[in-house]
Amino acid sequence: MSPLELSRNFALMRTWRLSRERLPSLHAQMPALTDAEVDLAALRSLPITDKAIYEARAKEWLAVNRSLPDFFIRSGGTTGAPTIQWGFLPERRPAPQQPHARDGEKKILYLKAGSGRQGAVPHFPKDTGALIAPLRDAEGYRIMVELLGQRFDFDGYEPQFSRLMIPLPAAKKLAHYMLMHRIDCSDFALTEVHTFSSFVSRAWRARIEAVLQATLIDHYGFTEIQNARAHECAVCGYYHFIDGVYPEIVDADERPLAAPGAVGKLLVTRLLAENDQAMPIVRFDTGDIVEIGTPCTKAGECGFKPWGKEGHSLCIDGDDGRLYPVRYGDVQEAIDFDPLVARIDNVRHSLVTPTEGDTFPKWRLRRPPAPARRAVLEIEMVFEPLLFADTWRSFEAGLRRKLAAGNPDFARAAAMDFQLEIVGLSPGTLTDREVMKC
Ligand SMILES: [Zn+2]
Repeated sequence: MSPLELSRNFALMRTWRLSRERLPSLHAQMPALTDAEVDLAALRSLPITDKAIYEARAKEWLAVNRSLPDFFIRSGGTTGAPTIQWGFLPERRPAPQQPHARDGEKKILYLKAGSGRQGAVPHFPKDTGALIAPLRDAEGYRIMVELLGQRFDFDGYEPQFSRLMIPLPAAKKLAHYMLMHRIDCSDFALTEVHTFSSFVSRAWRARIEAVLQATLIDHYGFTEIQNARAHECAVCGYYHFIDGVYPEIVDADERPLAAPGAVGKLLVTRLLAENDQAMPIVRFDTGDIVEIGTPCTKAGECGFKPWGKEGHSLCIDGDDGRLYPVRYGDVQEAIDFDPLVARIDNVRHSLVTPTEGDTFPKWRLRRPPAPARRAVLEIEMVFEPLLFADTWRSFEAGLRRKLAAGNPDFARAAAMDFQLEIVGLSPGTLTDREVMKC
């Protein structure tokens, strides 16, 4: 067992006891075990928590734990579902200080992008030294650019912002804003751009890094467990969770997966600290499909790569388990920087929601009821595909090649008579609510 697994296992013993204490309905499935009996195998014997169970538990938690001074529970998401929040916002505690810089080293100055309306800004534990720039409209981008080029004299801090935290759609718009206004970043001192997204395509990553002259580091998270954050690793390129959660990856039949390259659903258990007043969440189904990474020398585990929501992907029965022939990330990787599909519009500044005025390509997957092995990928083009038929044909052939090259399950599914029809829609066909939905 690696040191990371040992530490997670130790926290799991405490989590098991606290979960039973705080949510009596869990007694039926979580027997009273001794510490020695609590391990990953015991965890895997528990049923998966889906969103409906999560909401029922949240109501029970509210009824049973009213005496706790502060907690809050969230459900919902960024893909169109409303976020529902129960309980009370925790009192603001003093932000932890950045660890003491070595002699002569300056503390880091962070610039965070926030809208104050929609979209979560990535939260980092070392929040001191952070300034939040509003991105409500084009004026927000102008202010952000001005701040990035400015020099400051905060005692003990670097003279300029070296880190930027920004939702991915806003990072795309910032790159667009700078190009349109012929702003180069010779005055900037940025080294890292931290994004929070469902999927970063290689093309957008390269463009943002080139315009901002900084390394893009992405972070994975979801609404329900606020501290369940995974950070993209500079060593292996995959994402690793922090210590406070126990991740598992299972196939569509809920069997555990461990081999590098395997693709399955991500489950997350929140590990509780002794004085933690967070709601216990055991084996929560994030709804995200991830690929298992290669063993990482830095983290001591295999990380993972998110490929987007299961609900925005295709899953079919294969000869040996289920296959994911087309994942959300496969489509995004293939088309989200293609000028025949991708739009960029700085009129609306919604930051994270897929809206008509945003930087997202507009597409959706449709599948007939099982067991039919065919599906339709509909993509809204920026031109009329029936009129410019040759352009459409070459786009369609290129997309098919990219989907096949990017995901081994695509060829496996094709060999089993799975058929994907690709349809080009006229500009303006898909509304916000239809985008990406299966
Ligand atoms: Zn790593």
